[in-house]
Parts: sequence; C-alpha cells; structure tokens
Amino acid sequence: MKDFPAVAGDNSDIHDLFVIGGGINGCGIARDAAGRGLKVCLAERDDLAAATSSASTKLFHGGLRYLEYFEFRLVRESLIEREVLLSAMPHISWPKRFVLPYHKDMRFESETPTSRLLSTVMPWMKGRRPAWLIRLGLFLYDNLGGRKQLPGAATLDLRNSPEGAPLQDRFETAFEYSDCWVEDSRLVVLNARDAEARGARIMTRTGVIRAERKDDLWEIGTRDTETGELCTHYARILVNAGGPWVGDILQSRIHINSREGLRLVRGSHIVTRKLYDHDKCYFFQGTDGRIIFAIPYETDFTLIGTTDAEHEDPEVKPVCTPEEKRYLLDFANQYFKESLSDEDIVWTYSGVRPLYDDGASSATAATRDYTLKLEATGGAPLLNIFGGKITTYRRLAESALEALEPHVPGLKPAWTAGVALPGGDFPVDGVEDQIAWLRKAYPFLTEFWARRLVRAYGTEAAEILGDARGPGDLGPDFGATLTGAEVSWLMEKEYAHTAEDVLWRRNKLGLRLSDGEVAVLQDWMAARRAEERAAAE
Ligand SMILES: Cc1cc2nc3c(=O)[nH]c(=O)nc-3n(C[C@H](O)[C@H](O)[C@H](O)COP(=O)(O)OP(=O)(O)OC[C@H]3O[C@@H](n4cnc5c(N)ncnc54)[C@H](O)[C@@H]3O)c2cc1C
Repeated sequence: MKDFPAVAGDNSDIHDLFVIGGGINGCGIARDAAGRGLKVCLAERDDLAAATSSASTKLFHGGLRYLEYFEFRLVRESLIEREVLLSAMPHISWPKRFVLPYHKDMRFESETPTSRLLSTVMPWMKGRRPAWLIRLGLFLYDNLGGRKQLPGAATLDLRNSPEGAPLQDRFETAFEYSDCWVEDSRLVVLNARDAEARGARIMTRTGVIRAERKDDLWEIGTRDTETGELCTHYARILVNAGGPWVGDILQSRIHINSREGLRLVRGSHIVTRKLYDHDKCYFFQGTDGRIIFAIPYETDFTLIGTTDAEHEDPEVKPVCTPEEKRYLLDFANQYFKESLSDEDIVWTYSGVRPLYDDGASSATAATRDYTLKLEATGGAPLLNIFGGKITTYRRLAESALEALEPHVPGLKPAWTAGVALPGGDFPVDGVEDQIAWLRKAYPFLTEFWARRLVRAYGTEAAEILGDARGPGDLGPDFGATLTGAEVSWLMEKEYAHTAEDVLWRRNKLGLRLSDGEVAVLQDWMAARRAEERAAAE
C-alpha cells in the first residue's frame, strides 16, 4: 500500500461529507449539503457528467410507462418534481408536448403487471393496449400530483395536422400529454457550481482509489488522473454516488462486501437530421411492449431512443451497437412515412443505467426508483446510492441528507425546492424576453447564437459577453458561434478541460464543428492550461 501524503493534520481540513462521483446524484447531494452549511468535498475521476448523466433521454418526466408497472410512488414523486425543477432552471429545462399515435389494430408482446392483469380479467385483451387504458393512464398522469403550469392530456386528430404530417396515414388519432426537457449535463455542472458557490470543494479528474474507516473518520486516497498526484482527505461521512460503479467502489476501493446488487442496463440513442418541422415529441409504442421517443434536438436534428440492453461491466465503455441502431431505425420506421436508414444517423450516444436490482425478469421491467443504503454500524457512516433518475435527483439528495441527519447534529432543513440554479433566476416563461434583451444589448448576436447562450447560461449569458461590441471582441472564433470568451468561461467556471468537455457536455456544438475545428479548439485549450500550470508553479 502506498503512503498517501496528508492534506493537513488539523481538524480544519476534515470534511463533513466526502462525495464520490460527479454525476447528477453526487453533485445534487453536494449542493444540498453545502447549502445546509456542511463542509463538502466531491471527487469525480473524469469530467462532470462524463458517464450516465450526460447520456440520458433528457426528460424531466413522471414516466408514463412506469404506470404499467404500478410504480405509483416513483411516478407521483417525479410528476410533482417536474414543475419544482422547471421553476428553478427555466433556461436549461422547458415544457414539451408528447404525441402518442394510436391505431386500434396495434398489438403488443408485453409482460407488464397491467397487461398480465388485463389478460386475466379480460382474456380477449391479451396483447392489446386499448385506447381506454391509455386514456386512464393519461388521466392518472395528469392528476397524480403537482401539475400546475403544464397543460393536461388531449386527443389529437392526426389527419391534416402538422403532428400527423410526418406519420404514416394509418395513424389518424393520437393522444397528447406534457413532460419537460432538460439539458442533463448542464444540470450536473450547474449543481456543482452552486455547490462550490456554497463552499463545497469540487475536484474533477480526481479518482478515489481507496477509502478506509479510521474510527469516526474516513481516510480517502485520491489520484489526479492528469498529473498522477496522490492526496489524502478526511471526512466524517462518505457518500458513494458512483452510478454504474457503485458496486465496484464498494468492493475494490472501500473493500466492503455488500448484499445490494446493481443491474447495469445500457441505453442508446441515435441522432438524425431533422425529421419534421413542429416542436412536439413522439412517443412510439413497439410491438415488443417497449416505447421509444423521437424528439426535436438542437434545432436541426431529431433524437431517437432508447434501447434496454444488459451491460455486464461498467469499465466497458457503452456504445450504440449496430443491432441497437437497427432496432431504433426499424422501430421509428413503423411510424414515420419517410423510411430512415443508417445514412440518416449523424451521431449516437450510449449510457449505462445503474438500476437497483429488484430481481425483475427483464431490463425493461427493472425498477427505475432509487434506494439509499446507510451503513453506520462500523464507525463513520457510509451512504450508498443505488439507481435514481435525473428527474428525482433533487428529492434523492433531500432523502440522502434525511438519512444522514442522525449523524449530523444540528443539520439545517431542506432548502433546494424553488431555489434557482446559476442563471435560472427568471420566470418560467421568460426565455423569449431574455433572448430579446440579449439581442438588444448585443446587436451582433444572431437568433441562433442568442438562443443558444440563453438556453445554456440564462441570466449569466451577458457576463460571458462582457462589454463586447462585436464578435471580434470575443477572442478566437472556433466555429458555430463558439468563441474564446465562452470557452474561457467554461474553463474558469465550469471545470472544462478538453474540447470534448466543451463540445459534448457544456454544449452540443460537437454536432456542428468539423474535425479541423475541434483540433484547433483542443490545441487552444491545451495551450491555455499549460500556461495556467506554468503560472501556478
Ligand atoms: C439511456 C438512458 C436514458 C435515460 N433517460 C432518463 C430521462 O430521460 N430522465 C431521467 O430522469 N433519467 C433518465 N435516465 C437515468 C439517469 O440518467 C441516471 O439515473 C442518472 O444519470 C444517474 O446518475 P448518477 O450520478 O447516479 O451516475 P453517473 O452519472 O454515472 O455518475 C457517477 C460518476 O461516478 C464517477 N466515478 C466512478 N468511480 C469513481 C471513483 N472511483 N472516483 C471518482 N469518481 C468515480 C464516474 O466517473 C461518474 O461520472 C436515463 C439513463 C440512461 C442510461
């Protein structure tokens, strides 16, 4: 065992909480805890949101399909949460309408509890998801909890409507309901920034390589993945928010055998050129009992996903396999008029859901709810986070602090509901006003540019632009409206180190930049980091 240099020997460097993992759950917990006055440190071995939290379908949703699994607690909590989150981040999250095309001859191979119940009491219904069942589901979805701002469900005539135009003519009717979009990786970064603003220490590119209980303290060894520097930290409580690696961290870093299991389920998405002109999303039901979404994406594209595939090893980087591409194309081709092929795909991404293993038979059926496991009998407490959704991250963080309360005397009460994330301090319906204001203040901005900045940075967009009077005042032009001023902001305030951090997690301009432009950005960022390191020495 290597000898780790201590950060410092005195108590002032003992953290109340040390969080492993800079995905949405780790960053959400760090923010909540820091806001309650705890001394927090978070270590992420890669970039923030480098794993699952940048690979989601990006929905703040109740999860309409979970109703079929009778997951009422999860659905209710998520439905209530949608609007709480929307109010706190109207820049990175916004309402969306979902169109669910319906045809009476649709048949499903489905093993959900609802379809089993239906085929027992009404055997002639086997393999069907009748219109009344969908209506009942949407009624519950509208009324289970918390819907104040979002419009309720409706029935749509697809004939001669924009929503029907891209679909095959056999679809004449659809149901429509509300959920919300969220920029997942920005959500993570904004939580980390807010945690830092409230006193937390956020360390990226810092892997936890061991953690050991020393009576009432945790001794945690980290390695800087860029410089190799080793450090030792001390904390009263350890939180394992390692997502797909939660089990690996338990076994190989903390050396604890846990009975709790994790089910790793890969989900892939394809991004195609823009497939239709309106701004609504589609909810397509498949003959295998699964559903996929088609969602307008980044102005000029359409996002289609997702799949459910067992994924054995978290160390194996998830990629969208040829079979998954085929599956998604075939699925969409059952609905769209224009047939899609491989050539329409411009990008794919893939992530691993860290689902709590509830013994379900299939990946699709495994619960999407979260489970918190506190181990406090052997000395300093350890909290392990299993499962969870982007949508429930804030509630998960509150539950985590509730679980830790007996170990933190005088813990302040929950506070995050209704408190804006950085840049989100404006009304839910105020985005257009923000864009208009920004374009007036900076007349050189195009509509695309201004909208992109407001959607990413909200009220902070003007801080990036400063007193610029034209694009020439914003440093190098890296392409697609990305400037030196913005990249500097991302490096100084949002923990970006590489072109990939910027182009695929702080924004999605990777869809628009050429390989040559990416290389220029990467070189510029590397040179800047080298200068900063030299200045610090
Ligand atoms: C395809 C797909 C679609 C989804 N769609 C939605 C959706 O639309 N809506 C929704 O609400 N949810 C959705 N989810 C679920 C949601 O994305 C996840 O539940 C959530 O992102 C998990 O976050 P996490 O913080 O637990 O894990 P992660 O984001 O994976 O974070 C864990 C982090 O721990 C780090 N780490 C691991 N080991 C160490 C170590 N030793 N030291 C330091 N750091 C370490 C990793 O690098 C990683 O960044 C989807 C998931 C998938 C896969």
